Amino acid sequence: MASNRFPDVIVVGGGVVGCAIAYCLAREGVRADVVERGEIGGEASGAAAGMLAPLAEVEDAGPFRELCLESLRMFPALAATLREETGIDIEYLASGILRVALDDAEERRLRDLAACSTCLPAGRHGLPLHWLNPDDLRAFEPGLSPDVRGGLYSPEEHQVNADRLTQALARAAAIHGATLRRNLRISGLLMRNCRVTGVRTPDGDLAAGHVVLAAGPWTGKLAASLGVDLPVFPVRGQMLALPSRRAPRHILWGSAGYLVPKANGLVFAGATVERVGFRRRTTAAGLRGLAAMASTLAPRVGVFAPVDSWAGLRPGSADGLPLLGPLPGWEGVSVATGHYRNGILLSPVTGRLVARSIIGGPPDEALAPFSPARFSYSPSA
Ligand SMILES: Cc1cc2nc3c(=O)[nH]c(=O)nc-3n(C[C@H](O)[C@H](O)[C@H](O)COP(=O)(O)OP(=O)(O)OC[C@H]3O[C@@H](n4cnc5c(N)ncnc54)[C@H](O)[C@@H]3O)c2cc1C
Repeated sequence: MASNRFPDVIVVGGGVVGCAIAYCLAREGVRADVVERGEIGGEASGAAAGMLAPLAEVEDAGPFRELCLESLRMFPALAATLREETGIDIEYLASGILRVALDDAEERRLRDLAACSTCLPAGRHGLPLHWLNPDDLRAFEPGLSPDVRGGLYSPEEHQVNADRLTQALARAAAIHGATLRRNLRISGLLMRNCRVTGVRTPDGDLAAGHVVLAAGPWTGKLAASLGVDLPVFPVRGQMLALPSRRAPRHILWGSAGYLVPKANGLVFAGATVERVGFRRRTTAAGLRGLAAMASTLAPRVGVFAPVDSWAGLRPGSADGLPLLGPLPGWEGVSVATGHYRNGILLSPVTGRLVARSIIGGPPDEALAPFSPARFSYSPSA
């Protein structure tokens, strides 16, 4: 693949996923260019709460939960390496997550989860979970609602600063030889026969041995130019930052949203889940709902006026799972998107698996369940 004239790999998209892939490629000596139409981390990756929460929505065993757990396990070493290589502290905080029940249904659900987790020594979920009764819970986490029915403490689900993680991966990729091209939009793909040979930009064409489409919810538009209909779409998430006077000690998770105490002292309250196309803006109704959620879950946090608010577009997919690996029917092009609510968590393992699949070697079984080939797609051009 090596060439002096053009990069081995062009990664389209400078979000956390594209930067993680470029980092893993560059560490292996592959010449990688990241092409980002705006700023690094300027979309969902800079908007995220930064929770590393495999059990947030994944209660069923299977390849997706294994992928999430594998990625979670990579964070301590990644945080140390990124700090050493770039000087950036990604603020990996051992917050733990406290899932809180405020009604009967949620109490039943969390108790079931707790019961299962003690069936096996390692926990059926691959992580330890502890049920706390209301009195213990209020002592453990003072600012909680007086209405709590109990809660499930997960001591090994943590958090990072999502924007810092993305910037650190980008900088580390550059240190290992990758080129970061900001403010350059890929307007199309170059192809010959059934091979992608580079990308088209307003500044001219760029040839490459391999192209990775890691453009978040915009990936579907790029794939469409190859006649591939990828079921990827934007899911808006709005978020509030609240002042810190009564920050919770742990990440708090309720049925209507979450509160994340960040390293800078702010508390992030998130997040809405909305199918509104590519409209990335906050709404009065969305922010009101988040403020109400915060007041209900932890009244002492929620009463303060927000200091900031923003929105981002998560890359959703038709089955809720990421799309990772070669694009079927084409040579020289891979996809890495559809991480939906877990792109920060999944960035280390995505970088490793996608980079390996490009570099070559034995096919990694962990990638197979996430192949874009699982969708029957139809050529449209
Ligand atoms: C409010 C909110 C809270 C979240 N909280 C969490 C959380 O706590 N934990 C977690 O794990 N995940 C969380 N997520 C999800 C996570 O942010 C995403 O899954 C992840 O950021 C997706 O990363 P990405 O690199 O695929 O996409 P993006 O960050 O969207 O990056 C894609 C990049 O591609 C660029 N691009 C698009 N088209 C082109 C083009 N034609 N040419 C060049 N560049 C292009 C875009 O400008 C963009 O920068 C949250 C998301 C939101 C919105």
